[in-house]
Amino acid sequence: MKFLSKLIYVLGAKVRNPSLFPIYNQLKQTEFASLEELEAIQLNRLKALLKEAYTYSPFYKQLFDEHSIDVNITSLNDLSTFPTISKVDLIQHNDTIHSTQTFAKKLLAETSGTSGEALAFYRNEEWDSTNRAGVMRCYDWYNVKPWDKNGYFWGYNIDPNEAKKVKLLDRLQNRIRIFRYDDKSITNFAKELNSAKFLSGYSSMIYQIAKKVNQLNLKISGIKMVKGTSEMILDAYQPEVKQAFGCKMISEYGAAESGLIAFECPEGNMHINMENVYVEIDENKEIIVTNLVSRSFPIIRYRLGDIVSLADEQCKCGRKHTIVKEIYGRKGASIVGKTKDYPALTFYYVFKNIALKNDVLINYKAEQYRKGEVLLKVEGKPNTEWEQLIDKEMSKYFGEELSYSIQYTNKFESQLKKQQYFESFIK
Ligand SMILES: [Zn+2]
Repeated sequence: MKFLSKLIYVLGAKVRNPSLFPIYNQLKQTEFASLEELEAIQLNRLKALLKEAYTYSPFYKQLFDEHSIDVNITSLNDLSTFPTISKVDLIQHNDTIHSTQTFAKKLLAETSGTSGEALAFYRNEEWDSTNRAGVMRCYDWYNVKPWDKNGYFWGYNIDPNEAKKVKLLDRLQNRIRIFRYDDKSITNFAKELNSAKFLSGYSSMIYQIAKKVNQLNLKISGIKMVKGTSEMILDAYQPEVKQAFGCKMISEYGAAESGLIAFECPEGNMHINMENVYVEIDENKEIIVTNLVSRSFPIIRYRLGDIVSLADEQCKCGRKHTIVKEIYGRKGASIVGKTKDYPALTFYYVFKNIALKNDVLINYKAEQYRKGEVLLKVEGKPNTEWEQLIDKEMSKYFGEELSYSIQYTNKFESQLKKQQYFESFIK
């Protein structure tokens, strides 16, 4: 079975992504390269990308001309003088961003944003393959191959016709997924997971299933990697996930436009996929990504909208790829106090502190409907110890500026979109 699924994968790749394995082999060669070597690769690729974008993308030609930009850079730092772009640009100028060059093969990519704005664009085959190869290299860190049997925690409540199509695709990819969330379905799914090697999907959904698996006292073994994507992984998820699946949830960070940005290594550090993306962090901690292989639809200094910090340390795993220290989530609306505003990230720190100082993990969501007031939704049963800890941290950060109320909830609804841990409903 293992041989067959590998064969299907390799044959599929030959047709769809002919350069996948050559690019993968190339990436394996620089897996332990020095930081200088990696930056040299980045500079070479960046130089080529900028020239190509200026020549073949009408949008970038106009943008760079307007800013009197010389695309002949000599160092990575030179890029900081270039203008940034956002998702709105990718949607509004979609036609003129696309390169006028012809590519042997292009693949359509589609994404829907948090507020529904859809984006579609073409990736040249090498770009698509580079992304897959990058992910495949990271799976190696966990002794997992993309064709290994895996469980997928994604869409649910799919209509029956849709489910048939999905099931066929899943079978081709050696993937099993759960369609219903009642105890019986989860018990059956858990049985099937015993022959799977890895799990992936929305982190909040993996967490909900993990809790159910623990409640039902189901035994699952043989899982080597649990990968959460698309949402923040809260510390509160980890104990349940570890108990249920035998390993903690690791994070993959990226987006369709940017490609794979970073992946967590077994030492717990998220390494940037440096050969393929160039990452900058601006003064507001917002990430700016350049996809170094995005020839058909250049992504240059793209504001993804996430708040991120980098670490300046060496990882024990031996890889020199720069480490993403923390992803704080989406750049959100401000928290509105009685007389001043606070960054949306503040709640993240409130609960992070409680976790670090007291070893108390609280699953939360903050919502604001009125100036100077906030509603903290907390998962679990009423707990006075938690309330004392929350009160201490809240007053430390907000003083008299923000009053709050706590609402306990049995469990959060899983959301099929990037979750925000602070949401403002103030118009
Ligand atoms: Zn590492």
